[in-house]
Amino acid sequence: MSHESIRLYRLHEHGGPQNLTLESAALPEPGPGEVRVRLAAMALNHLDLWVRRGIPGVRFPLPLIPGSDGAGVVDAIGPGVETVEEGSEVFVLPATSCGSCRWCLAGEDNLCASYGILGEGLDGVASEARVLPAVNVAPKPANLSFVEAAAFPLTFMTAWQMAVRKGRIRPGDRVLVHAAASGVSIAAIQLASLFGARVATTAGSEEKLELGRELGAELAVNYREEDWQREVKSWAGESGVDVVLDHVGEDTFAPSMRLLARGGRYVFCGATSGFTLKTDFRPVFFKNQEILGSTMGHKRDLLRIAELFESGRLRSVVAQVYSFDELPKAHALLEERGALGKVVVRVG
Ligand code: ZN
Repeated sequence: MSHESIRLYRLHEHGGPQNLTLESAALPEPGPGEVRVRLAAMALNHLDLWVRRGIPGVRFPLPLIPGSDGAGVVDAIGPGVETVEEGSEVFVLPATSCGSCRWCLAGEDNLCASYGILGEGLDGVASEARVLPAVNVAPKPANLSFVEAAAFPLTFMTAWQMAVRKGRIRPGDRVLVHAAASGVSIAAIQLASLFGARVATTAGSEEKLELGRELGAELAVNYREEDWQREVKSWAGESGVDVVLDHVGEDTFAPSMRLLARGGRYVFCGATSGFTLKTDFRPVFFKNQEILGSTMGHKRDLLRIAELFESGRLRSVVAQVYSFDELPKAHALLEERGALGKVVVRVG
């Protein structure tokens, strides 16, 4: 047994960024089927804020090590692990599942009854070292830094399920993505463009709109200054938009529904502006529309995404990199919605 100690963050009580407490702990040892990852970088997601603040009616297993996305080097292997070698540079697959139920066997691991997201339902990666099932690490795309590799898994996996699986994006589809500069939207705009769709996006500042355009959006509308509905409508034409990818919710739902085409798909992965959504439901059946909820995605899709990063077809957008001591500061930046892309923390 090693007597080395490591530093990690724990959340003991929900609250502000100051509730993230830096502690030390014994270096964990991998058991059968597990590997130990020395984290080099971790990235924040909106989920980190929900977990830290708490959600009424949702119980998180406190104390909890936060953080879902990370990348680093495997430095110890447990008995029976043959798929990963010591010294491998890896990124972390941000959720665990049982591996043997009908959903897991079908590759739809995010429907598993024991599905657990790191940093939400079980300890996460805000730690200098973390022991994980060997199936929860995959080779880091060689062309990415650890910072870039930590920045993509959760949001791209989420956006893939929204755009590709639920939205069933096809070449030529007109796709509306709200909040251009958020992590999921940065992924969604790139994926929709990669699949040959045409993208319109909305945001509240010129810099965010510019980022949306750089990532492939044809139309980028400032919702603070322009009538975004009218702009999107004139861009999409009479038939409307085929797919809406949204995590804003209350503020965007009804106006976006009015833009949805016949056979259109409206996909949600969250509702940051409020959970009570209202719309005239008649067009939903008369126009054969679909309203779909989406959380996380399949592990197999994440491996495909990593290949697309390695071949340079997708990219991470990193807004700011903090040191490990500055995790609370990193949370505050994300909370102020001041980040143009992912907020990443170097670990160690
Ligand atoms: Zn399962």
